[in-house]
Amino acid sequence: MVICLKNTQNCFYYRSVIRDIFMILFLFLFIPSFGEIYEDDFEDSSPGLVWTDAMGIHSIIDVTSESRLSGITHPCSGTKVIKVAEDGNTAGIHLTLAGGEGQDMTVEAWVFCEGNDGSVSHSGYQAIVARASYQGIENFIRLAWDPDHSESGDSGDGWVKLQAYNGATWDYFGIDYSQFGSQTQGYILNGTTWSSSWHKFKLVVGGNQVSAFIDDMETPQATGTMSITLRDGQGGFYVYTSGDYAGYFDNFSANVTIPPPTDFDVLIRNGEVYTDGNSSSQLTDIGINREMISEMGDLSGKSADVTIDASNLMVTPGFIDAHTHADSGGALSSYINQGVTTVVTGDCGSSPSVTNVGAYYNSLEGELGPNYIGLVGHNNLRSAVGLSGSTPTPTQMTAMKNYLDQALRDGAFGLSTGLIYASGYNSTTEEIIELAGVVASHKGVYASHMRSEGEFLLEAVDEAIQIGHEGGCNVQISHIKCAGPFAWGEASQVLAKVDAANAVGDQVRMDQYPYTASQTTLDVLLPSWALDNWSDAVTNHRVELEEDVRELIYDRGGAENVYIISGTYNHQYLSEVATSLGKDPEDVMINNIGPGGGSAIYFQMQEDDVQTFMAHSQLMLGSDSPTSDHPRGSSTFPRFWGHYVRDLGIFSKIEGVRKTSTLAAQQFRLLEQKRGILQVGYYADITIFGYNSIIDRADYDNPTLSPLGIKYVIVNGGVVVNNGVYQPAYSGKVLRLSNQTLVENWYVY
Ligand SMILES: [Zn+2]
Repeated sequence: MVICLKNTQNCFYYRSVIRDIFMILFLFLFIPSFGEIYEDDFEDSSPGLVWTDAMGIHSIIDVTSESRLSGITHPCSGTKVIKVAEDGNTAGIHLTLAGGEGQDMTVEAWVFCEGNDGSVSHSGYQAIVARASYQGIENFIRLAWDPDHSESGDSGDGWVKLQAYNGATWDYFGIDYSQFGSQTQGYILNGTTWSSSWHKFKLVVGGNQVSAFIDDMETPQATGTMSITLRDGQGGFYVYTSGDYAGYFDNFSANVTIPPPTDFDVLIRNGEVYTDGNSSSQLTDIGINREMISEMGDLSGKSADVTIDASNLMVTPGFIDAHTHADSGGALSSYINQGVTTVVTGDCGSSPSVTNVGAYYNSLEGELGPNYIGLVGHNNLRSAVGLSGSTPTPTQMTAMKNYLDQALRDGAFGLSTGLIYASGYNSTTEEIIELAGVVASHKGVYASHMRSEGEFLLEAVDEAIQIGHEGGCNVQISHIKCAGPFAWGEASQVLAKVDAANAVGDQVRMDQYPYTASQTTLDVLLPSWALDNWSDAVTNHRVELEEDVRELIYDRGGAENVYIISGTYNHQYLSEVATSLGKDPEDVMINNIGPGGGSAIYFQMQEDDVQTFMAHSQLMLGSDSPTSDHPRGSSTFPRFWGHYVRDLGIFSKIEGVRKTSTLAAQQFRLLEQKRGILQVGYYADITIFGYNSIIDRADYDNPTLSPLGIKYVIVNGGVVVNNGVYQPAYSGKVLRLSNQTLVENWYVY
């Protein structure tokens, strides 16, 4: 949202959503209080807000449910009054704006109220002062309360301030905060003493979300709760209230749209622009306003708040990490720092919610670094209906399908299986086909961590393809690999199966991380039949157990290739542990480690297979992270670009763009949501990097070392990496498959 505060000489505008939120918040925040009627232009609208600006423009804001305010302009300096009236009660804000170009903008707002008992018996005065400085990127916002009626400006007794980051320090007074962008909360004090029962005020700042509520008001006029919440990061907000004064702010929403005084929020100049993974580069400028690309071409005569000189840099669609476990959302800076603007989550059969997916997605909004795509985990789906064995009852099957269907309606993009993990390894192909049918009805994706990536790799690929074919949905084979000596050299055979399926009209794609080692639990070295009843297996089936464990270790490349990264034997190879204990590796696994023994790096792939897969036209990048133990968690995308595309010269730049963005955008139908390519009218998810400088630095000893060469990362128009420096903007959104036809028209340009 942009609010322009303009006068005849100067014009500048707020860029940060958070700043905008505060402005809006101040315009409409009413603290019921002892007050006085401010004698100024006043119109009674019942219910309603009246804005009268210095130019005599009157705007009446209907505060009935879900109403919207738009088209209000704000002359810059001067005094304005907003009043609310209903049933003889009045309340409002007297607002004075001042400032000039290159100066801080000062907004001072006096909140005034008249009691709803009809009398004007209240004395006293309260004030909220908002002060917003907005040169550069970092700014501060101040919300202060002046219970000693000093009206404005002074910093004397009684001031209580809630302040955000000021570019250098956190200035706060009686405020509990964590950090700008996550949560700030505090209590407005009476004087300098904390009082949770006296005028409690809480403010939550979370990227695009702000909510504020006031409760425990001890004034007789207001005992209710008031909250203001930004609408889904799209500008405007709701005000929810209950209680005397605030009662008629029920479900208020408002949006203020002002034409920007500069042409663009962000302008990218002189870059080598790849609009998608199918087209040659072009020299074009990209103008961004708010979340969208609003103009492309020669924009040399245009102005912008932030101008990025992309000379000698590649400008591409933001990287899409097609396979992650970033289920819990948040800043996800290790992805952002790789140039990733969208993560696919809920992979390998595991997702955080299967029965209330919509609410879970909502809970992530406003605090996301990159955009978020969720899949529904098959293993969680099974747990949700009490299924752990091989055959669901008809009731369980129906329940799983219903949960899945609802999740897809709530925005999930498909189903993932983890067929080497509990309890997916017990499921039949038929069960998954039936679920895939539900996915197909929403045109979603079936992503599979297959039953085997080693000895039974080819059979597992057959199963994944069969599920997609019979279920009728897109297939994504997760972290494709030839794991262990049984499977080494089989990449071409796998790809022949993929090609054959695609040739008959199926849609089979793969994701991959560009490394020869994997990372997963140590449990994968134990047979699933034994995991289901471990003590029985150890006691009564010892011989078969040892045999199977020995084979599983071999299948993973042998004990000398299993590098343990947790537990008692942290940072030792399984072979080393066996030697030091004087035991066989299978003995160590059964007796010394056992089920739930943590995690390991498995050096179980061959570079030839990695490259053979990578070269396939239907392969996209997927980090399979987060992990702080494997370099893929910090470096998948820069390694692909620096090592494979540039240094080894295996791919053209266009093909690189395709594998890091376009193909995944197709897989998840993001183009229908105006994402995944650089085009006017599409969301500004953009990665800008130096082709000559991009490279990974992390290895297995230093797995979290950040990569080089990523210069700018833009998520929904928010600059999250600025000249190589990460700066949290929380501009990511939860993407929803079911919302793809939704046209976001909150902003009127
Ligand atoms: Zn997996």
